Amino acid sequence: MDTVMQLAVNGRNAESAADLAAAEITRLEKLLDAGAEDSEVGRINAEGKGKLSPDGIALMKEAGLLYEETGGLFDVTVYPVVELWGFISKEYRVPSDGELLNALDLVGMDTIEAFDPESGRLTLGGKGRKIDFGGIAKGYAAERVCTILKEKGIKSALINLGGNVQALGAKPDGSAWRIGIRNPEGGEYLGVVSCKDRAVVTSGGYERYFEQDGKTYHHIIDPRTGYPAESGLVSVTIVTADGLLADGLSTSLFIMGEDEAIRFWRERTDRFDMVLLTADGRLLVSEGLKDSFVSSMPVTLIEK
Ligand code: ADP
Ligand code: MG
Repeated sequence: MDTVMQLAVNGRNAESAADLAAAEITRLEKLLDAGAEDSEVGRINAEGKGKLSPDGIALMKEAGLLYEETGGLFDVTVYPVVELWGFISKEYRVPSDGELLNALDLVGMDTIEAFDPESGRLTLGGKGRKIDFGGIAKGYAAERVCTILKEKGIKSALINLGGNVQALGAKPDGSAWRIGIRNPEGGEYLGVVSCKDRAVVTSGGYERYFEQDGKTYHHIIDPRTGYPAESGLVSVTIVTADGLLADGLSTSLFIMGEDEAIRFWRERTDRFDMVLLTADGRLLVSEGLKDSFVSSMPVTLIEK
């Protein structure tokens, strides 16, 4: 997944459980790599149709739910636009308006021709249409790792897939895990979340980007414009039990921006909590984290 992975597993059988978990991540990476011709997703993208495995089906279902809930901001069919910007080939460039309009024509999960969640059969419909689970793949992998570790009797572990952090249980001594949220400016953490059995997932424009003519272009695309989202948020962290949801929402709320993200949270305060960093340096934290988030920066609490 083009990133660093860290597993800290405690307890009896820790080593063999960690080996299984690492093998699962490698398996999923091969399966889901949209840029590889021989992956499940790559083949479907090349042929415009195909059959998803159980993992692909789970991801496609979650992608559909997120698409609906976010009013289309989270959209796995945005891949042709991601490609156009060079984020797959790593030959970065700013596309022309005409190119973007053509690519945007291929985007929209609601125009997928057919998807049968039972058999996994998927028809994208239309030449050049492509999908990419990159916005939720790490969250899904972290959830799978948790499941495997639990099956092996592990009660305490910490999984870090390139900023997607997931805590299984508590630390071996029973206390909460302490998970730092990276400061995009460097230096100290933005803050630290104390938690047990939670995913802490951050999306930001500072992870993958390129610069041209003094402007920065990052890899989270606003499907309404085809441009990297410029919502006034620099970093969005989601805290919730479900790692897949956390990954999907961190990408989505990053595109939404401050006001819409707060509105979205207020309608779902029991489902997740969040830490937002705005471009003008404000740190906004939702009420549910009042007692578990600490920072040396001034914090604005978002109330229900
Ligand atoms: P990261 O993978 O860097 O942690 P995210 O979880 O936010 O970051 O996912 C970003 C990836 O999601 C992009 O690299 C791209 O593959 C994909 N993506 C970009 N824009 C969207 C979007 N609007 N909806 C769904 N996926 C997207
Ligand atoms: Mg994400």
